Amino acid sequence: VLAFALAAVFSSRITRPLRRLVTVARDLREGKLDRRTELERADELGELAHAFDEMAAALEQKVEETQRLAVTDELTGLANRRKFGEGLARELERGRRFGLGLGLGMLDIDHFKRINDTLGHLAGDQVLVGIADALRASLRNIDLACRYGGEEFALLLPATPGNDAVLVAERLRAAVADRPLGPDGDLHVTLSAGVATYPADGETAAELIRISDMRLYAAKQGGRNRVMGPVG
Ligand code: GH3
Ligand code: MG
Ligand code: MG
Repeated sequence: VLAFALAAVFSSRITRPLRRLVTVARDLREGKLDRRTELERADELGELAHAFDEMAAALEQKVEETQRLAVTDELTGLANRRKFGEGLARELERGRRFGLGLGLGMLDIDHFKRINDTLGHLAGDQVLVGIADALRASLRNIDLACRYGGEEFALLLPATPGNDAVLVAERLRAAVADRPLGPDGDLHVTLSAGVATYPADGETAAELIRISDMRLYAAKQGGRNRVMGPVG
């Protein structure tokens, strides 16, 4: 009876918490980073479990931060091209499945080189940040704006077919044009945009990007500070 009682105590006091630690360690290894032992005990095993949970929390935080950085443009805080590509693929898939239209916009700052040349590269960077702020402030929360390249931005406009996408791009163009930018807040910078829509202009990401790039070029040729879309 004594041996049985001792075994029972050993099991509940030692074996079970150790098993719990092993289980959570394996969960973490498999990427379930929100798992914790949550063992509340006032002995050494409790201390071990507490330290373990703290380590897991730190790991989860680091991984989240790394994942965020991997899809964020450092200067502007907008999504980067990788996140945009993922978003576009996902939204095209959803568009296909649910029969939703989709807008894609390519935006390029007008005469940006002049700003760098006259005010310096740092002022140029400040303008990029200001434009990113303007885009963020005027986008709907279903939309995604990204820094596509140096002074080029891209817009992903889910569930926004045909001319609606042109209207959104036009609203953003106007918002940027109206916003004083630069180190002294006295610069007015414009951008040009090309918009393509799924499914009217193309069925694939590559095709939509090609068409919106072409229209962006046409917007530049047409005098800049304008949006060219399917009906433009
Ligand atoms: P356009 O109206 O035809 O687009 O003229 P543009 O001067 O904007 O176009 P261009 O392609 O000739 O120049 C783009 C410039 O953007 C050149 C490059 O130095 C600048 N640029 C690209 N990335 C950055 C950046 O991260 N920071 C700064 N400050 N400038 C950048
Ligand atoms: Mg450019
Ligand atoms: Mg430019």
